[in-house]
Amino acid sequence: MIENKLRFDALVIGAGAGGVSAAARLTQAGYRTLLVESLERVGGRASTREVDGFLLNSGALAIERDGAVAELYKDLELKLDMWIPEPQTSLLWGRRVFDVDPGKGLTGTARTLVPYLLKFIGSVAPAFRPKKGQSTTEWVNRFTRSKRIHNLVDNVCGAFFAGSGEDVLAEVFLFCLTQGTSFKSIGYTVGGTIEVWKGLSNWIESQGGEVWLNSPVKRLIFGLDGLVTGAEIEHEGQAISVSVDVVVSNVGPLNTVRIAGAENFPVGYAESVEKATDGAAIITIHFASPKPLVQWPGLALIGKSRRLTYAGNFSAPEQKRILRPGEWYLYCGASTPRPARGDFDLEKEKQLLIADLKDYFPGFDESMIVAIDVTAHEWPAQRAITGYDLPIETPVANLWNVGDGVKEFGDAGTAACTRTANRAVKQVIENFPIKVRQGPVSVPSHS
Ligand SMILES: Cc1cc2nc3c(=O)[nH]c(=O)nc-3n(C[C@H](O)[C@H](O)[C@H](O)COP(=O)(O)OP(=O)(O)OC[C@H]3O[C@@H](n4cnc5c(N)ncnc54)[C@H](O)[C@@H]3O)c2cc1C
Repeated sequence: MIENKLRFDALVIGAGAGGVSAAARLTQAGYRTLLVESLERVGGRASTREVDGFLLNSGALAIERDGAVAELYKDLELKLDMWIPEPQTSLLWGRRVFDVDPGKGLTGTARTLVPYLLKFIGSVAPAFRPKKGQSTTEWVNRFTRSKRIHNLVDNVCGAFFAGSGEDVLAEVFLFCLTQGTSFKSIGYTVGGTIEVWKGLSNWIESQGGEVWLNSPVKRLIFGLDGLVTGAEIEHEGQAISVSVDVVVSNVGPLNTVRIAGAENFPVGYAESVEKATDGAAIITIHFASPKPLVQWPGLALIGKSRRLTYAGNFSAPEQKRILRPGEWYLYCGASTPRPARGDFDLEKEKQLLIADLKDYFPGFDESMIVAIDVTAHEWPAQRAITGYDLPIETPVANLWNVGDGVKEFGDAGTAACTRTANRAVKQVIENFPIKVRQGPVSVPSHS
């Protein structure tokens, strides 16, 4: 039953990285914005929850310090409390630990030089460049069959794109190495990644916008002209109807079609979105130990493993991730299962990941597994592996998608999702400037 009529300039569905960023940018541009989230917290797959006194990230752990998220914070004159370890990233290869921060040591210097070298070789020797549609594995096979190199390449693909070398286009792999920021300058939000989105959603509310948690959007309402005119939202136990001028959806292109109704798009659109949605998976094991297991801080990429692609160390007191009394050290290890897309044998994949954790964390057997998170299927690691994303525009002129699933070619992570929001909001401003408001703006009343 529809019990209330509320009006907003813009509705943003989903408070993930893309949604919160879009709502912040819309608010900044003067749009009275409603941000709705079905869960009890903001952040989506870049959020944080407490389990047994440990703050665990749902997905994203590192935030790019020179990316779009940092830019948004700067534009809004907000401060993000980050912990920046030394080194920011390590590379683990068996028992050996390398500092791979750009420019530092031999491996770090290689990381700085490799992009230039690859660009140079690509420009003077076109045959070096990958063929259209060629996978990273196929491309690397042209130069080497070394299992070690392929293992490293698979792990880099897993850590950056949630896929193996078979899944990631060689063009994307090269593009990321040579053009993208590639997580070169990263930090960890104090208190967990959720704090990034909390800071922004608090700011939205401080500017007159609204953020409704535990409020799933049930369906979009369309006018006779084919534009979205509103939405039905479940909010505080009631069905609420809001009317809006524009909608930005952060629930992924497939779910956008589901809540909008396939009949509101041109024939064949729903099928094409379904076909393009090919989610990839990541398995993360969060574990804690009463004694330190490793010395490297923050994030470590893994060179050689069965499945482990990266690991995290969240033990430093400055990170404020451990609320449990006593001395505890908090870690995580993540893998890309095989196949990364579609169904996989979860038990077998968990065992392979645990075997790697035993190798890389001496003492793992005495530690406590706090949680095992499987981001797959309806809650995937990536809705589409980068290179296969859809555009942000939909066939409905006042409806956009943001976030993972509509990223730009070769882009990845939360900053990529924020960039989709920047582009969508730019189009909103160009195509649907704020209407001059007639009379007072309605305020929520659930009576
Ligand atoms: C294990 C893992 C590790 C990662 N590591 C990193 C990293 O270190 N650094 C990095 O930058 N990125 C990382 N990423 C990628 C990053 O987390 C994601 O790309 C990003 O968080 C996706 O954001 P999004 O904008 O697509 O929104 P999502 O996270 O998909 O959020 C969408 C939101 O919409 C809500 N929603 C769904 N349906 C409805 C509805 N009907 N009504 C209202 N709300 C709804 C959902 O509850 C959700 O909160 C990682 C991802 C994973 C899975």
